[in-house]
Amino acid sequence: MGLGITIWNEFRHEKENDAVKAIYPDGIHEVIRQGLDDLSDSGEFSLSCATLDQPEHGLTPAVLQQTDVMLWWGHMAHDEVQDEIVEQVHTRVLEGMGLIVLHSAHYSKIFRKLMGTACNLKWRAVGERERIWVTRPGHAIARGIDTCIELDSTEMYGEPFGIPEPEEQVFISWFEGGEVFRSGCCWRRGQGKIFYFRPGHETYPIYHNPAIRQVLLNAVRWAKPDGHNPEPRYCENVRKPKEDIRNS
Ligand code: ZN
Repeated sequence: MGLGITIWNEFRHEKENDAVKAIYPDGIHEVIRQGLDDLSDSGEFSLSCATLDQPEHGLTPAVLQQTDVMLWWGHMAHDEVQDEIVEQVHTRVLEGMGLIVLHSAHYSKIFRKLMGTACNLKWRAVGERERIWVTRPGHAIARGIDTCIELDSTEMYGEPFGIPEPEEQVFISWFEGGEVFRSGCCWRRGQGKIFYFRPGHETYPIYHNPAIRQVLLNAVRWAKPDGHNPEPRYCENVRKPKEDIRNS
């Protein structure tokens, strides 16, 4: 059994908008799944998908337990995600599940809960050029990426991005209209690693792009539980001092 990877997608735009359906006929999740399948080593991943309209949004306790890294795409229906499921995903992150938050999922309940901030940003969807610059050459998530990824036509996200300071920043974007944006950011919460990756607006074929697919593969490999940050353990008598304390 390979690493358990669950690709979660809201899967609404693809059903309701013909332009989106033309790019992602089987859903954004299916194109992401195919990309990871094509680029990963044989047997490395056990890939599955889950969507909003499935019972429990496809995220049953059994699925969550088997998931080592989850990818999350959402946009128009963040509020329809049940708080109880968000709580369970949050718990799994603290236990060590990696979470890769994609594009408009900056406003998802799970990302905002993990960040503890509003996660606001500036945006404009007119199909302008973007350069996603690598700010940390040598970072595992930038492996195989040259100095920048160039997207001819994309949605703009602009600063200020209402996030806590990233623990590691891997990418920064420049847009044709002049804005910049922290496009690839890493945090740790509990034992879990979180990576936010900006590109991915549904009306552009972003997840078909070979460099974007490479980043997603890298991110999954980076975010897998590595046991390097074990949960602190406390002895039964937590108040017992290490040394005798004078005057006590
Ligand atoms: Zn978008």
